[in-house]
Amino acid sequence: MVYLVLLQKDLRQFDNPALYHAVRRQKQVIVVYVMEKRLGLTSKWWLCRSLQTFFEELDPFWIPVLYLDNSDKISELLEYLSKYIEIERIHSNGLDFELPDDYDEIHDSFQPNLIFKPEDMIKEYKIFTPFWKSIRANCSPVKPLPIPEYSRKNYVDLEFDEYIDLPKMDDSDRWNQMDQYWKIGEKAAQERFESFVKTKLSDYDHGRDFFCEDGTSKLSPHLRFGEISARQIYERLNTKSTERFCSELGWREFAYHVNRYHPDMTKIPLNPKYRDFWPEFNDDHLEAWKTGNTGFPVIDAAMRDISTTGWMHNRLRMLVASFLVKNLLIPWQLGEEWFYEHLVDADPAINPFSWQWVAGCGTDSVPYFRIFNPMLQGEKFDSKGIYVRKWLPEFADFPLKQNIHQYIIKQPQLCPKNYPKPIIDFKSSRERTLSTFKNIVAPKVIQLKKPRLV
Ligand SMILES: Cc1cc2nc3c(=O)[nH]c(=O)nc-3n(C[C@H](O)[C@H](O)[C@H](O)COP(=O)(O)OP(=O)(O)OC[C@H]3O[C@@H](n4cnc5c(N)ncnc54)[C@H](O)[C@@H]3O)c2cc1C
Repeated sequence: MVYLVLLQKDLRQFDNPALYHAVRRQKQVIVVYVMEKRLGLTSKWWLCRSLQTFFEELDPFWIPVLYLDNSDKISELLEYLSKYIEIERIHSNGLDFELPDDYDEIHDSFQPNLIFKPEDMIKEYKIFTPFWKSIRANCSPVKPLPIPEYSRKNYVDLEFDEYIDLPKMDDSDRWNQMDQYWKIGEKAAQERFESFVKTKLSDYDHGRDFFCEDGTSKLSPHLRFGEISARQIYERLNTKSTERFCSELGWREFAYHVNRYHPDMTKIPLNPKYRDFWPEFNDDHLEAWKTGNTGFPVIDAAMRDISTTGWMHNRLRMLVASFLVKNLLIPWQLGEEWFYEHLVDADPAINPFSWQWVAGCGTDSVPYFRIFNPMLQGEKFDSKGIYVRKWLPEFADFPLKQNIHQYIIKQPQLCPKNYPKPIIDFKSSRERTLSTFKNIVAPKVIQLKKPRLV
């Protein structure tokens, strides 16, 4: 009689409820990783490496680890396993697919990698602050579980010949380059957390906005793949002096809360006013945004950063998203898709939630009239142009004393020869957006061209 642990994300041993409770019952255990329904290419790169590490870590305990590349094939997998074993129970930490009906009764679904149990919040909140206050006041997070104590009873002495090949990425320069930027897996996540607590946490409230510095934790891909437990972080840092950091974790909880009530939010604006709206847009502008050739240094530096490292600082995510939606008037769904393919931490709840937030069509959103100015933001958070110079080689000879963010307006003649001129006039694009958004009154507004959604 075997306990089957079905995992999606949750590639850790510490505080992994599905794994812990299976091992603790002293039953034979088989772990199966099931590919998520929505996974971007760059996050798949992360997953491949993370899975490899996780499986190697389980190897000494003789727990077979299998891989299912598509959850639609779950019945085939269960049928295959039943040739060899009898499944007593199935454990998961939540799944993005349904198990066949006959397995419902033996399925225990534990808490996903969130601080609070999503089902403890019985009413829908649309605004972050009351949500965060209420959940903290009324619910208590469960204490993180230790690493399971494996015993001989957990061993399964069987060699499988199917479902054993792990996913692989094609060899490419991009993936080789990404290896330089990241250490992946549970051990790396714990080390990053410790190092953040020791060296950056005390200055987080101030440092978190300066994208030219490395002031945030960069834990997002580790949290995305469950290499570290959100409850572990919260238990350690839930104090008055680290309130700001905890509230960022709170935004993560909120995105999942909203997604629970709006599973279609990847494509559909949460605010119905924006549902049928999107004017015609310029394909060349979209291409310039994707490739980092808009002529706005901070936007282009950020876009080249994400294409190289698979990550972008939160403030820059807000700036490039605002620029796409509110200056280029391009549907947010196209930016969301592009981010999803290029981020190591591309998250099915947080990414669409954040895009809707910036686009002004989410629940607790930036109002439509708040449009980030990339030149002023660059001046404020990268005053010496360190970040821009790092990502835009075109600025290698740009005079150190000149303002690398504001030259567009004040000294356009300083534009480096091999760098594009701005693709739009910032001021008039802003005015166009303000008048367009102001005039959206009812769900039905002229729809000249539909966003190309996949
Ligand atoms: C347009 C846009 C798209 C985004 N897409 C994603 C995404 O796909 N995946 C993702 O994890 N985050 C996303 N974010 C949120 C945020 O930018 C990242 O979580 C953050 O930059 C990760 O860096 P960090 O780990 O250093 O964060 P820290 O500042 O160290 O914060 C710690 C953790 O809190 C969580 N967190 C921080 N900020 C936010 C936030 N604004 N919303 C929700 N959770 C947050 C993350 O899990 C993060 O790792 C997006 C933001 C925007 C504006």
